[in-house]
Parts: sequence; structure tokens; C-alpha cells
Amino acid sequence: MGTVDESVLSHRAITLLADLIKRRSVTPKDAGCQDVLMQRLAAIGFECEQMPFADVSNFWARRGTSGPVLCFAGHTDVVPPGALDDWSSDPFEPVVRDDVIYGRGSADMKSGLAAMIVALEDFVAENPDHDGSLAMLITSDEEGRARDGTLKVMEALTRRNEQIDWCVIGEPSSEKQLGDIVRIGRRGSLSAVLTVNGIQGHVAYPQLADNPIRRFAPLLAQLHEVEWDQGNEYFPPTSFQVVSVEAGVGAPNVTPAELKARFNFRYSTEWEHNGLEKKVQEIFDAHDIDYELDWHLSGKPFLTKPGRLTDAVSRAVQEQTGSAPKLSTGGGTSDGRFIAPAGVDVVELGPVNASIHKIDEHVRIEDVLSLATMYQRIMELLLAGRERGNSKRQ
Ligand SMILES: [Zn+2]
Repeated sequence: MGTVDESVLSHRAITLLADLIKRRSVTPKDAGCQDVLMQRLAAIGFECEQMPFADVSNFWARRGTSGPVLCFAGHTDVVPPGALDDWSSDPFEPVVRDDVIYGRGSADMKSGLAAMIVALEDFVAENPDHDGSLAMLITSDEEGRARDGTLKVMEALTRRNEQIDWCVIGEPSSEKQLGDIVRIGRRGSLSAVLTVNGIQGHVAYPQLADNPIRRFAPLLAQLHEVEWDQGNEYFPPTSFQVVSVEAGVGAPNVTPAELKARFNFRYSTEWEHNGLEKKVQEIFDAHDIDYELDWHLSGKPFLTKPGRLTDAVSRAVQEQTGSAPKLSTGGGTSDGRFIAPAGVDVVELGPVNASIHKIDEHVRIEDVLSLATMYQRIMELLLAGRERGNSKRQ
């Protein structure tokens, strides 16, 4: 044990976090994490509903029947620990050194879950008759294929017209210190496989062949020069990247009949995906080229515009840390992409992400407690009733 105050280690958020780390919930296993969470929620008046799909454990829990609905979302699964010998201690045995707790999932995202549960308990104790409803949506497959997790639960909720208004995801959004970054959206991802058709021939008789490499080269240059957009207040400019180009028959004296290329757009809310597809097609059609494009949309962009949720989250962070968070759309994917399309305002606020998915993953103990305070404050600002939410701690 290091410099941390022993009393902090017995805090409910820390003992819950330690319990969760001990459970080897490598995707899609849940290893009993969700039972622990549901027991805690049931004890404070939540209706808990297990929603397993295939080998994935999920649950939806709700306290209250009216709107608005404030939902906390996240995942109990963790990525594999990698080489155990590289860890300073057993990744599934929580260990405290100095002011930090180590273990797989400590930052991504079992500390977020522990902070949520404790915040919900404290909020409900103080506000048993809160406005609207509180909810929790948890999956054990965020780090994997993510097909039978949040996506399926959202489909089930939508089918029965159960609406979420605001969602806070406990993913590790922070970069240098807790609360410096709150994620409010993400870019869309649109991929294509291109086939350029030509006529195979002898390299010495190009007039008798049609070389698809030669046809594609100027187009490729042009695609890189296009300014797709300048981004906007919340998104960086749309980016176009070629990830592969393949052509050739393996002989030095033969030009090929076909070229295949793959490319990807990470695009902002300035575009709809079919608009981008159309623009690319126009560029191709201006060239004398025989081609096919096969598109694949892996995620539409989403953005939670400034409003009650972002205001509440920013204020909760500022009260706790002294500075307002940067609202960002950077980073990779999260299950927010499955929740936002149902018309839900989604933000991600969680611990520092510097060690996630790495050897010796860890989280600052103080950050877990501060995060719980922030989550509780968000509930107060949104559901405690106008007077209480606005008058407290001013
Ligand atoms: Zn995560």
C-alpha cells in the first residue's frame, strides 16, 4: 500500500471497482459483473431486465415510469490482458500502489461503472422522488463484435417505444486529467472497394491493351486534392484515405486487366453518406474509366448539440475540477453510435484513457470518487427538480 489514505480504500466505489476487476470478464464474458450491478440497482428501486443475445449478456434497468429518461450506459467486458509476465501484478487482482489502482478494466471501464452505481445510490437516497426516470444500459460486448450488445438492446427498446432522452456513457474520455475532455459525438466511417476494369496485354504493345493502373493514377491524385469540407465547429475536416491498391499479374511484361483499391472516409456532419458517394461517383464519371464501386457504411456521424445535457455535464465537471471540459468528437468508436440514432443526446465522460487496453492498466483512486460526484451532480441538474438542481452548491 502506498500513500493513499486507507479510509479511501474502503469507499463503496473502490470496493465495488475491486470486486469488478476480480471478475475475468474478457469479451463477451460477463463473469457475474452484471449480477452485482443489478443487485445494487434493484436495492434502490430499479426494475432490472436481462436481455441476453447469443453469448452476450446485457441488461436494461429503469427507476421511474415517466420521462425524461436519463440513462447511464457502458460495458462490463474487458480486452484480454496480453502477456501476463509483462504485468507488474495479476491483471485480475486489483492492486493499489501509490494513489492508483491497477487491473484490467480499471480504466476501461469498470471504474466508470462503479462510479455510476455509487452516484445512483447517493442520488436516489437524497432524491427518492426525482423527476422522470433513471436508467442503466449495460453490455458485455463492446470491445468485440458489438453485434449482440447495445445495438440489440436499443432495437428492443425502440420496438416497444421506450425512449431515452439523455445518455451518459462512462467510457474513458479524459486525456490528461479527469474531465478535461467530454466526447459529444463521433465521425462517420464510410468505406469502398473500387474495381477498375481494363484489358490485359503485352507491355510492349500498350495500344492493344487498356492498363487500369494508368486509368486510375490521375484519379487517385485528384481524390487526394479534393477539399471535402472544412469541418465545422465540432468536427475536423472530412478525411479521405486509400488503404490498399492492388493490380498486376506477377510478370514484368504483362499489364493487368483489373485494379482493386480500398478507401475510407472519416466524415463530419457536413455530409450524408449518400452525398459523399455521389460526389465520388461524379469525379469518377468525369474520367474515361470503366469502374465499379462497392460501398460499406460502418457508422454514421453523430453529434449532441449544446443543450441541457451538455450544460449539465460541463457544469458538473467544472464544479469538481475548476475548469470546463473541452467538448470533442475525436477518438475511436463507442456504443454511442448505437444509442444516438434513436434521437438520444449522448455524451461520454469517464476517467483518463492513457493506459486503456495496455499492460498495467490503471486509474487514479481520487478520479473514481470525483467521477461519482460528477455523475451524481449531473442527475441533480437534470432530474432533482428545478429548485434543488439549480440552487445547490452555487
Ligand atoms: Zn470501453
